[in-house]
Amino acid sequence: MDATCSGCGKTLIESDILYTADARVVCAACNDKDDVAATDKRAANNIRTSAITSLLVGLLSVFVNPIYACTVIAISAGAYALKSLLPGNERFSDLLSPGTKSLIWVCACLGIAAAAFRLLIDFAILKIVLFSR
Ligand SMILES: [Zn+2]
Repeated sequence: MDATCSGCGKTLIESDILYTADARVVCAACNDKDDVAATDKRAANNIRTSAITSLLVGLLSVFVNPIYACTVIAISAGAYALKSLLPGNERFSDLLSPGTKSLIWVCACLGIAAAAFRLLIDFAILKIVLFSR
């Protein structure tokens, strides 16, 4: 049985038929393109996940911060998310809606700010301890 590629419309013989994750018939070339698009989409979603991680872990670091792990995670995840929105990363950032980009900016900045706030408190406490001796 022959079929047509749902991507480019090419007629495919049975041995050339491939299926996408959502069960559409595609040729090998369209299947590869689909794979790349899906991978890029995952990478774009990772940027958003990083920003949200930065916010949550940054807030957590204010209260719980064993060996500064939360500070390190919040700042590195936030920095990764912000860096990903800078020019040069359009391949992934263009896949994000303007609303998602704003969400990423806000989450990453707040996450980094919360982590920095915790550090400032620690330094302030350190200063008090040193000067009260
Ligand atoms: Zn095709």
